[in-house]
Amino acid sequence: MQKVKLPHSVEPVKSAMKRSDYRGVMASKDMVRLNEAVVRCDDWVDVEVQFEKDAQGLTVFHGNLSTEVTLICQRCNGELSQPLDVNFCFSPVQGNENESDDALPEAYEPVEVDDHGEVSLLHLFEDELILSLPIVALHAEEDCAISQDDMTFGEIEPEQERENPFAVLKELKRDQE
Ligand SMILES: [Zn+2]
Repeated sequence: MQKVKLPHSVEPVKSAMKRSDYRGVMASKDMVRLNEAVVRCDDWVDVEVQFEKDAQGLTVFHGNLSTEVTLICQRCNGELSQPLDVNFCFSPVQGNENESDDALPEAYEPVEVDDHGEVSLLHLFEDELILSLPIVALHAEEDCAISQDDMTFGEIEPEQERENPFAVLKELKRDQE
């Protein structure tokens, strides 16, 4: 089956009027920051996204992203496959409309549109995928080259040793809300 490539940018309000419904893929090679955060990523990110007006007349777009990345296990340093599966629900806001921002239902994540009313789906989806990466990648115990028994000597506590490099991104997102 041919893979339909999604546009990198959309005008959510227009798309919602047309009740656009996309099912397709984005090339992960275009997601530079995601690629830097993982050993490798599947070539394609599967995307489903639906644009619509909700009962209150607010523009929303929601859907799902899925792909698979390869990470390094923090216990044995071997590679591990990590499926990513993210659900999202965004509502576009203009830069200065703080009031309308407050009025957004909690389930909607505000996303700023640019001067042309456009949103970069590529960057938005890339951020979502990066945020969904585990803070500490570890094999399931039975799959790991280093067993729990071997660890009694080393006492590795990866959660404390390694700071999530994307904590900053999370902070930024929180500030926007
Ligand atoms: Zn491991």
